[in-house]
Amino acid sequence: MTRVNFLNYLKAIITLTGSVSFLYALAQLPNLALSWSFLFVLIFAVALAPKMSLQFPRSNLTLSFSDSVVFLTFLIYGGEMAVLIAFVETFATCVYLKRRGILASHWIILFNSSLASLLTTITYVVLLLCFSSISTNFDIYSTRGLIIVLGTLALSQFFVSSIFAAFYQKIKDQDKFFETWKRQCLSASLTQFTGAGLAGVIFKLINYADIVLVTIAFLILSIAYFNYRKMIGEINSAFSQAERAEQEKAEAEREKRIEVEKYAAKLSDSLKKEETANEALRKSQKAFKHAALHDSLTNLANRQQFSELLFNLINGYKNNPDICFHVLFLDIRRFKNINDSLGHTIGDKILTIVAKRFLRMVQKTDTVARLGGDEFAIILRDISTVGKALKVARRIHQSIAQPFSLSGNRIFISVNIGVAPCDLEYNTPEDILRDADIAMHYAKEKGIGVAVFTKELRVRFLERVRLESDLRHALERSQLSMHYQPLISLNEGKIIGFEALLRWHHPELGMISPAKFIPIAEDSGLIVPITIWILQETCEQLAKWRKIAPEFQNLIVSVNISGKHLSNDELVDDVEQALEHSGLPPEALKLEITESVAMENAEHTIDILTRLKQTGVQLSIDDFGTGYSSLNYLHRLPFDTLKIDRSFVYSVGENGENSEILQTIVSLAKNLKMKIIAEGIETEGQLSLLQYLGCDYGQGYLLAKPQPKEEAEQMLFQKSHWLPHYEPEDFDSRNKGLAENNLPVF
Ligand code: C2E
Ligand code: MG
Ligand code: MG
Repeated sequence: MTRVNFLNYLKAIITLTGSVSFLYALAQLPNLALSWSFLFVLIFAVALAPKMSLQFPRSNLTLSFSDSVVFLTFLIYGGEMAVLIAFVETFATCVYLKRRGILASHWIILFNSSLASLLTTITYVVLLLCFSSISTNFDIYSTRGLIIVLGTLALSQFFVSSIFAAFYQKIKDQDKFFETWKRQCLSASLTQFTGAGLAGVIFKLINYADIVLVTIAFLILSIAYFNYRKMIGEINSAFSQAERAEQEKAEAEREKRIEVEKYAAKLSDSLKKEETANEALRKSQKAFKHAALHDSLTNLANRQQFSELLFNLINGYKNNPDICFHVLFLDIRRFKNINDSLGHTIGDKILTIVAKRFLRMVQKTDTVARLGGDEFAIILRDISTVGKALKVARRIHQSIAQPFSLSGNRIFISVNIGVAPCDLEYNTPEDILRDADIAMHYAKEKGIGVAVFTKELRVRFLERVRLESDLRHALERSQLSMHYQPLISLNEGKIIGFEALLRWHHPELGMISPAKFIPIAEDSGLIVPITIWILQETCEQLAKWRKIAPEFQNLIVSVNISGKHLSNDELVDDVEQALEHSGLPPEALKLEITESVAMENAEHTIDILTRLKQTGVQLSIDDFGTGYSSLNYLHRLPFDTLKIDRSFVYSVGENGENSEILQTIVSLAKNLKMKIIAEGIETEGQLSLLQYLGCDYGQGYLLAKPQPKEEAEQMLFQKSHWLPHYEPEDFDSRNKGLAENNLPVF
């Protein structure tokens, strides 16, 4: 049998037996001479007792009048009537509770009422058994007897009801019997004993006082009850108010705590945010510091960091001259051309590669920096002599020249390096950097790649700076002029034209060689306005000469064009303007471009020369043999004339020795269908050889020196034959010499 089923059976048995006891008691009712007093007890039990109860404040104890009524009935009317009253009173109480919505089912009302009558029956039986066992009839009208009877009643009622309740609870909720009984013991005993006490007092009043006294006592008790009830009500309401206030306070505190917790969470959140922001700030400060001291492209030290380091080293050296260091200034050769031809993206990549190569070539203790553009600098430490520093610089110069591939291009890089050793005269980083730069410029100018700074270089440099500054005003102060060197046909000995050569007459320094000031003009960019002036001047001059006599009407003029001007897109316009202003036909103007400049950026040269050629001018490749011509490009470049560099002419001996290269160049030019001109002819031997080889034109001191325009003009009138006079036997002896040197004889 399940627990639920057992409980249901138990309930049914209780209801049945309780109802039977009630019915039995009811059957005894007619035996009782119905009195007003019983009716009063009955009405009290049905109408008042259910509603009368006293709840003790701050406890679970409730003093009900049900027990008092039952006990009083017991004393006055006997056990059966007590069972009846117990049933009726419980029934009325249940109905009252049902009306208040506390009890629900009719069955529960019946069960409770039956239970009450059953428990009272059991108590009655227990009482009977007790008294019969001691064979005594107690006189309930004596106080002692009343106390014993009531005490026994209360005790039996207490035990019966508490044991039953504990038993029922054990089955229902599987509680421990003894624990449950103990828990309910106090409240049950108090209810029973106070009920019994109250019943005893009322019993005594009824029996020993007259009706007036009973009424007064009843009134007093009623007043006391209602006052007490009111007082308890107030106390309870005060307690509940206090409890509510406490609850509200607790609620407020809870809310406050939640607020505080929220605030704390917010605070920790904002602290975290602040921490993150601080971290970001620290990172950005670090990045900012890094950016302030490093070059963004190569990640090398930048000028500022380099200068700070150099400043410390200079001061350190002043304190202890044993701690020596060297500064290298490095400049990539013609980096602008790389940028122009391959684009800035590749240019940037090249700079990055070069930076990495520099880093690989120095020690960890050395510092490599990018000063800007294509300029780098290195501090070499732990190197005691300038000789060792020069060795390192040469090694860098050689290694950097190793070609590499980048985006399908074969890249050739070379650097010019200036070396400046530490010196006590240096006070600022700029001092030592300036000297390393001077040495670098010297290396660049001389084409030697690496140079060490000396005091003489500084003097030279200052002179150069002065020349550059003076050159800026040379044109407007009419210090520049043109000299004209005749170009002679080696077959006929006739003049075919002039090479225009620039001269600078410095007011203090006198005549300055173009070899000295042309590089300065190129570096400073002054060469462009100067060449524009040269083009106008020479074109006008030649136009005049061509008009003098019919034999001069085919004269030409050769003008040298520098690399700087060739890369300038406006060159074509400048040429056209000069021709237009002077009225010189374009074929009378020949532009000379040196081989090294032409080959530097051959694709660009092809482009600009093609455009120049379209204007109708002639083109000549100058100083041929000194550069590194690619035959492929040479073939595509639209040159009309090839001018052999004078070093090849110069090296030829009287009997034609060392003429192999000359022969090769002549046959190359012929194959390329170019006219050949040789410059620097100083001896008759050289002239004969060139004539012998079939060179078309010649230029040299032997034939005519460069002259100012007035002298050149005079020469035009005075000379009709420009080759020097020589005897036929001389020619034979020379031919003999040529044959001895295995030269082809025509
Ligand atoms: P270049 O164009 O090769 O000019 C020929 C140089 O050889 C001239 O030197 C000329 O005076 C010199 N020369 C001619 N015949 C002889 C000779 O028989 N022996 C010797 N030793 N030298 C001879 P110059 O006038 O001093 O010019 C030197 C260089 O300066 C020129 O070489 C040219 O590259 C440059 N240059 C001269 N004038 C100009 C110019 O107007 N514009 C540009 N861009 N460069 C110029
Ligand atoms: Mg020339
Ligand atoms: Mg030349």
